Amino acid sequence: MADRVRIVVVGGGVAGLEVATGLGRESHAAVTLVDRGLSHVWKPMLHTFAAGTARPDRQTVDFFAQAKRNGFHFQPGTLTAVDRAAKTISLVVEEAESRPPLTLPYDLLVLAIGSRANDFGTPGVEEHCSTIDDLPEAEDFHAALRRHLLRSFRGGDELSVAIVGGGATGVELAAELKHAIDLLARYGSPDLPRRLRLSLIESGPRLLPAFPERVSAAAAKTLAGLGVEVMTGTMVTAADETGFALKDGGRVEATLKVWAAGVKAPDVLSRIDGLERARTGGLVVGSDLRTTRDPAILALGDCASLTDPATARPVPATAQAAHQQAQHLVPALRRALTEGGVAATLPPFHYRERGAIVSLADFNGWGTLGRYTFGGGRLNGLFARLAHDLLYRQHQLGLFGPGLALATWAADELDRRVSPPVRLD
Ligand SMILES: Cc1cc2nc3c(=O)[nH]c(=O)nc-3n(C[C@H](O)[C@H](O)[C@H](O)COP(=O)(O)OP(=O)(O)OC[C@H]3O[C@@H](n4cnc5c(N)ncnc54)[C@H](O)[C@@H]3O)c2cc1C
Repeated sequence: MADRVRIVVVGGGVAGLEVATGLGRESHAAVTLVDRGLSHVWKPMLHTFAAGTARPDRQTVDFFAQAKRNGFHFQPGTLTAVDRAAKTISLVVEEAESRPPLTLPYDLLVLAIGSRANDFGTPGVEEHCSTIDDLPEAEDFHAALRRHLLRSFRGGDELSVAIVGGGATGVELAAELKHAIDLLARYGSPDLPRRLRLSLIESGPRLLPAFPERVSAAAAKTLAGLGVEVMTGTMVTAADETGFALKDGGRVEATLKVWAAGVKAPDVLSRIDGLERARTGGLVVGSDLRTTRDPAILALGDCASLTDPATARPVPATAQAAHQQAQHLVPALRRALTEGGVAATLPPFHYRERGAIVSLADFNGWGTLGRYTFGGGRLNGLFARLAHDLLYRQHQLGLFGPGLALATWAADELDRRVSPPVRLD
């Protein structure tokens, strides 16, 4: 063990869990995965857990079990500091908060701690809005939704939900909430959909700014057809207990308020001295995924900022990019470990744009295929929704291997057939 390279991966999300799983059985390395939670969840599903159209307990991967199956060590804890000179990280372990932080040494540190919504300091957002950035937040929102739904069910009260941010997260959440309410209506409250007021507020001129204009227009039309009030070009200046104040002096009243706008890196990265950071707070990395000022620290996924040399454009903060980076890094590090150690040159990562896909629950979906997928093109409706699922299935394949992944898919299918399509508990 003593001469094995100590690789510490912080963040067991899309990128980090794939890296730890892929390197776990590497004989030249002792791999430790650190995460503040005890289980992994595919983040692009969070809005379905928030709405109640999927159950998290069936879609999580326990870190301890994954570690045992794949030969790495799992250490629960929240990263609070990195001492680059001593090559150690500090962790706060929830159960032992009163004790001094745990210190973990590394030879190579891989940071994959994701990102969060950015409220840009808008007053009242922190106190009054939900964010859907991790499983506890999605579950908190779902609990609040359920409380209000029960009130509406018993007393006939109106339920109003306002979502700020017209990117994929906000658009998908709005559609999923409408879908959930329609499904719930079948279970004894047919007028529930009429009592739901759903608003989607976007400061830019159109929804889904990362997509072509025709997709934005089609998404806005579908949502409007579902009864969602779509407000583009609308700037929120503050949030309070009863709703949002707008720059034009107007207000949007809402019982439940969700902030799904902007992206920023976790604050802990700003406390690591001497590393180069981008405007979003992400760590600037070269195409070898090493941070520009410390080759012993790599960053990937949403918390990394990488400009793709082929297009001179930033690699997007998406699950697709995080997955590709992990799939690139695993064989690259394996080769480095056998040939010259972790300081060896790593091959450059090239982002392959496979397209952007947005799925509006069961209502509709759109995708643009990147030039690496059948030479580019468009996807609509069912095909786009299937392509959306495919990315998740690829991720599961990477984590479980073909046998277990197939069993998981079969279990999901069985579950879909026997369980109600929306949470009723
Ligand atoms: C509702 C929603 C829908 C989305 N839909 C899509 C989509 O359709 N397609 C798409 O490509 N992308 C989508 N995304 C974006 C996608 O989820 C992210 O780009 C992707 O998860 C990034 O992967 P990651 O590995 O960088 O981070 P994550 O998957 O976010 O994982 C980060 C991990 O780090 C851990 N962590 C964080 N801070 C600490 C700390 N201080 N100490 C220890 N551990 C820590 C977290 O617990 C987590 O396990 C969506 C995001 C959301 C919120």
